[in-house]
Amino acid sequence: MTYEYTDYLNTQALPSMWCAGCGNGIIVRSVAEALAHLEIPPHKVVITTGIGCFGKADDYFATHTFHGSHGRALAFATGIKAGNPDLHVIALMGDGDAVTIGGNHFIHTARRNMDITAVVANNLNYGMTGGQYSATSPLQSLTSTAPRGVPEQAFDVAALAETAGANYVARTTAYHVMQMKKLVIAAIQKPGFSLVEVMTPCPTHFGRRNYKGQHDMMLYFKDHVLPWKRYEQMPLEEKAGYMPRGVFADRDKPDFLKTYRKINNMDPDR
Ligand code: SF4
Repeated sequence: MTYEYTDYLNTQALPSMWCAGCGNGIIVRSVAEALAHLEIPPHKVVITTGIGCFGKADDYFATHTFHGSHGRALAFATGIKAGNPDLHVIALMGDGDAVTIGGNHFIHTARRNMDITAVVANNLNYGMTGGQYSATSPLQSLTSTAPRGVPEQAFDVAALAETAGANYVARTTAYHVMQMKKLVIAAIQKPGFSLVEVMTPCPTHFGRRNYKGQHDMMLYFKDHVLPWKRYEQMPLEEKAGYMPRGVFADRDKPDFLKTYRKINNMDPDR
């Protein structure tokens, strides 16, 4: 059976609650398009979310959804996958949900290599609650809680997942929609923990404080998040302010459930 991307969306809930110029809707559509491309029946998909602007994403899906508490989307996803291994479990999180309040769950889900796909909308701040700085806000960037500049180093979300043990790690931006769909397709297909980090604009808070116009944050990502080969070739002194995009890890370590079943002399595929 073939599916349209709209088969995965709760179109009655649209238009979304997100601000004009926000990248969240672009990511939701890419995930729906990836599921349609893979022809996964909607009733075989579970979307989990936590709290935050992107934590509202479950409202717009017509698959199974689970809206939980802040930073715990991966904890719920882990339980759902452990109890229902045949389902495709996708955790949609912002940077606050995924690696700030949810940081501990993030590194341990990657370490366990749970067969879950995480899509992290990284807009460099807590959007929903007023633009406070998160663990991905760049050093010295301006936020509502650091009006003179963030005094902390930022996490590199993709590097964190790769180091912690995820099987598949990739980064793109909300501008590069074709690449995003391709990466989400690959991430869903990969057994084990997979991450697609999407750099995405929050014009209302981070964009307003750090860029000139409503669209500048999107254009900044377009010009500064570079194909990783191009990024690698840049002299070290020119890399500040730039990030690589593409696939950083693609490996085939056994996922948690396979390992668990093997240790306990269970059928590895059930
Ligand atoms: Fe998007 Fe930022 Fe508005 Fe939230 S506050 S909906 S992240 S633009």
